[in-house]
Amino acid sequence: MPDGTPVTHSSTDDTDDGERTTMCHHVPTCPDARDPHATAAHTVSDHDVDQGWQLLCNGLIVFHDGGCLVPP
Ligand SMILES: [Zn+2]
Repeated sequence: MPDGTPVTHSSTDDTDDGERTTMCHHVPTCPDARDPHATAAHTVSDHDVDQGWQLLCNGLIVFHDGGCLVPP
């Protein structure tokens, strides 16, 4: 029965994990927070001067002393 309504993927009905809690909209996508090169991601919130940390677009928080915090 051709009723002219093709089935399309709405963005809500399929949990394709291409989109997670990342804020990264860069092309190509920055490394995941668990990637060995995670700190190569772009800085989205820079508090290095005042608080000693930076938030990267993959959710990683990098501290001034070289430590980093991986998001849950
Ligand atoms: Zn990015």
